[in-house]
Parts: sequence; C-alpha cells; structure tokens
Amino acid sequence: MNINFKELANKYQTPYYVYDFDHITKQYEELKGAFKARKSLIAYAVKANSNLSVIKHLADLGAGADCVSIGEVKRALKVGIAPYKIIFSGVGKIDSEIKEALESDILMINVESDAELNRVELIAKELGKVARISIRVNPNIDPQTHPYISTGLHENKFGVDIDTAKRMYIQCKNSSSLDPVGMHCHIGSQLTQLEPIKESIKIVTDLVRNLKAIKIELSFVDIGGGLGIVYDDETLIDTKEYAQAVLENMFGLDITIICEPGRFMVGNAGTFVTKVLYEKVNGNKRFVIVDGAMNDLIRPSLYNAYHKIEVLNDNEEFSDCNLVGPICESGDFFAKNVQLQKTQHNDLVAIYSAGAYGFTMASNYNTRGKVAEIAVEKGIDRLIRKRETFEDIIALEEEFIK
Ligand SMILES: *Cc1c(COP(=O)(O)O)cnc(C)c1O
Repeated sequence: MNINFKELANKYQTPYYVYDFDHITKQYEELKGAFKARKSLIAYAVKANSNLSVIKHLADLGAGADCVSIGEVKRALKVGIAPYKIIFSGVGKIDSEIKEALESDILMINVESDAELNRVELIAKELGKVARISIRVNPNIDPQTHPYISTGLHENKFGVDIDTAKRMYIQCKNSSSLDPVGMHCHIGSQLTQLEPIKESIKIVTDLVRNLKAIKIELSFVDIGGGLGIVYDDETLIDTKEYAQAVLENMFGLDITIICEPGRFMVGNAGTFVTKVLYEKVNGNKRFVIVDGAMNDLIRPSLYNAYHKIEVLNDNEEFSDCNLVGPICESGDFFAKNVQLQKTQHNDLVAIYSAGAYGFTMASNYNTRGKVAEIAVEKGIDRLIRKRETFEDIIALEEEFIK
C-alpha cells in the first residue's frame, strides 16, 4: 500500500477511512484462484464493509454477495450483482425480508432454525414461489477465536445440529414450496487455525453424502467466511491449504463451493486516519486525544481488538500512552498502553487493518457525523462516501419538533 495519508487529509479532512482497492483485488484473485479446480462462488460478506463502491468493485471482479439483511441484499442488487449470486443469511429474518428475498429470486436463503423454515415455507406458498433453501449446520466445533465472533458451537445462537438439519432437509423435499439446494456452515470470524475448519467441512460433507443416499441432492456447499487477517503478528491460514482441505472432502460430489469472506477481502485494505487534538497527562498517565472516536471504529472498545497504530511524524521520542477519542465514555479508546511518539496538534495517526467492521459499525453517538470514505485505486483517490453533516444527522427528526 502506498497511500499518502497527509495529502488525503488535506483534501478530505479528518477523520477518514481509506481503502486500497488494489489490495481488495489481490485478495479476491488469491481466493478465487485457490478454488480454480472447482466450480466456485466467492460471495463477499457485505456486512464487513458495505460501501456501494466497495461492493461494486468486488462485483466487477465476479464476486457474489452474502447478506444478513434485506438492506444488504438491496445494496448488492443496486451495484449489479446478479440475483443468482446472492445469499441471504442470519438467525432472525423478518417476514417482510423473506418475502422480498423470494421476490428478488436470489440464489438461496440460508435457514438457521426449523421455525424459520416453517415461516419461509408459508411465505413462499402465499407468493406461489418455490424457495431455494440452504440450511446452516452448526457442527459444534470450537473455532478458537474471540468468543464474540465465535459461531460454531451449540452454545452460540447460530445454525442447527445435524439431526435437526436432516429433518429439515426432509421437510424441504416433501414440500412443494421448498427446494433444498445447499448446505451452509460458518464457524466464526478471524480464524487462524485450519484444523477446526477441516473438521467442520468433514461433518458437513458427510451430511451431504447422507442426504444424497436418500435422494436429496444438493448443488451448493457454503463453507462460510471467517478467514483471518493480520492485525498484529498472526500466522494466517494458507488459502491453497484451505481450498485443498475443502476440495479433498468433495470427491464424487457435483457441488459448487461457495465461500463468504468478509474481513479477508477488505480488512487489511483499510486504514482509519485521524488527527491529534491534544496531549494531556493525568497523574502519571499520558493521553493522546484524537478527532476520531469509538463511534467511528468500535473494535478496540467492543472486542478489545488490537490495531497497529502509527503516528505520522518524525519524532523519535516514544513513550507509553493511551490513544483516545473525544467521546464521553471511558471505553472510548483505540489503544491502551502503547508506545507512541510525542505528538503535536494536527499530527496524523494511522490505525491500520480497519477496512472490515470499521465504518459498518459506526454510529452517530455524541452527534458525530460518520466520517468520509475514500478509495485509492491504481494510485488515484476518490471519495466514495461524503462526510455526514449536522443536517444529515438531524434530517429524520427535524420535522417532528413540536
Ligand atoms: C459475518 C459472516 C461472514 C463473514 O465473516 P468474516 O469473518 O468477515 O469473513 C460470513 N458468513 C456469515 C453467515 C456471516 O455471518
């Protein structure tokens, strides 16, 4: 990545997110390439970064979309992703979302409970449609990641156990409104160990074979997302070994492999850039206060997540500090006890690996407008989302003042 953060700060002000679109291309090509021996679909998990230009960039590369709300489905359709490349996942789909998904004729709905399957069946019947179904299997495997982003254990709310899944597939087979086409499994996020993925794929493909034996022939196995990225010094899963682990379980099956990476596609492509307002010392604790805050990037506050941080000045004097935002919460920090240079008013601070679950988790807390988003592609920068103004923030309230 060769991005001139200072130039962008002069042009667009701070704070901002900048995304290296060439990095996104590289990530897509790497993963797609790893599966080249098979029919495959890389369905980008839109929730990681749902900026329309980011989705469009991936769409142009050939990606589909994995969506967890009808809003995300509409974003994918809006930038031209074909309905047959769109999947709708999530534990709590609303009736109106299911209806719209069916009317949009997307590839399939990833169903996460038998109660949901009944709802989908009912709604499909009412619409006179046949719903293409994939069932999310919970393989009860510990993905060895942060508990908040772990999803593959029975204690998590996601998916159904093998026996329930089997019953649900039989229900699909016997229903004129349901067409079982796929099986889905997603055990967690920021995965850095291949072994749990291997185990869950084995469980999933065994079930696919079991179903085949009773004449339920699926066309898609959706192995989920979750591939980790480098925040600090993580050793990552090799994408070729990942693909190999999937493919070796697929022999004799005529299956299109779907995977749903979010973080892997965009995480390392993004940097959050903020500028120093003040330094202060309370007791013997040094604080560097910047114009960005937890409402812009909540991962440190929410998951205690680590992001590599750099102060962009030439000072060589480093000391321990907390890097914090202006919000009235002690949880408003980007890093605690980090070694950073002595700073001056207006020095820029780069917070790396912020492309995934950064802007998409932003809020207007403290009546702070969401920041600008910028793309850099082949050395050229462009704005892809305007900085929100005060008028934007109050737009939906103003008319109701009495
Ligand atoms: C969040 C999510 C993903 C993407 O996870 P990443 O860790 O960002 O790759 C994929 N599939 C489902 C069903 C999800 O909920």
